Amino acid sequence: MNEGATGRGKGAGGGGMARAASRSAGKAANDDAPMARAKTSGKQDRRKQGGGRHVFEKKSIALVYDFDGTLSPKPMQEYAFLPQVGVDAAAFWQESNAIARAEQADPLITYMHLLYKKAKAAGVRIDRSDLVAQGRQVELFAGVMEWFDAIAEYVKLRAESHGVEIRHYLISSGLTEIIEGTPIYDRFTNVFASEYWFDAYDLPYPKRVITDTGKTQYLFRINKGVEDLGQNINQHMPEVERPIPFSNMVYFGDGETDVPSMAVMRKNGGHAIAVYPPGKSKQKCVDLFHANRVDFFAPADYRRGSDLFRRTCLLLDRMLADIRVQEETWRMTRGLK
Ligand SMILES: [Mg+2]
Repeated sequence: MNEGATGRGKGAGGGGMARAASRSAGKAANDDAPMARAKTSGKQDRRKQGGGRHVFEKKSIALVYDFDGTLSPKPMQEYAFLPQVGVDAAAFWQESNAIARAEQADPLITYMHLLYKKAKAAGVRIDRSDLVAQGRQVELFAGVMEWFDAIAEYVKLRAESHGVEIRHYLISSGLTEIIEGTPIYDRFTNVFASEYWFDAYDLPYPKRVITDTGKTQYLFRINKGVEDLGQNINQHMPEVERPIPFSNMVYFGDGETDVPSMAVMRKNGGHAIAVYPPGKSKQKCVDLFHANRVDFFAPADYRRGSDLFRRTCLLLDRMLADIRVQEETWRMTRGLK
């Protein structure tokens, strides 16, 4: 997520959850339907079965990413929104965080509000389609565009258990609409991010705000296969029924705003990797590593053969081996072999 609006960094993150869902459901991109339009809604019933009777089904691996600072060097609002309304990025985050502190307001709601106050003051009207267009200007770290195919290829080469599926998810405090305009949007099974209502108020009003700790809810949604936001996530679900165990999940983040997510991952047997901008300070990552928040850290270079690629593949190797072991045990338990 972005660190700006949380008072630690200089950016605010983006969000965008059920957007993908709405697309696949054939709805207009800016409709205000309840956000229950998970891209994957069709898969839910099947996945709910977890370890079904006749086939071992826990073969999905989920790679979950923060956006700002993790896949992209800067908070997404800094590429087009702020320049368009003539506002200096550093000054914006400073002002937003100062207001949040003074008012004891949530930093993410504050930034979402201030963004549009600035646009209004500048006489610039930015609607949903403008935000989507801004997404095309968001810069991605080296190799991000090729990463998804490279990982798929690696898993295909290494998976000796048939039917292993790799999924990519995004959980961001930034804006759904901007993420939707990026060239990697289609790579995600689902995108969970903050989002606006555009027609209910004079200024766009936050529809969904994803805070640092709020991100953890979406990790559980992925874990439990409850990606339809209209469904309650708090109902108890025994581990055995959860389609993607935490041990099959890796979370990628870049800083303090990711600590709650990293902690949830690690405490539940999942994995986490921290990234830092290539050529810049890695201190935050070193601190996370020493605090046992992450398995690995690496420069945010997603190209095949990079440290990040290699370390991710190490975790994938372990997950693929675990899946084979579990599948074998599952078969023996049922007397199938
Ligand atoms: Mg971040």
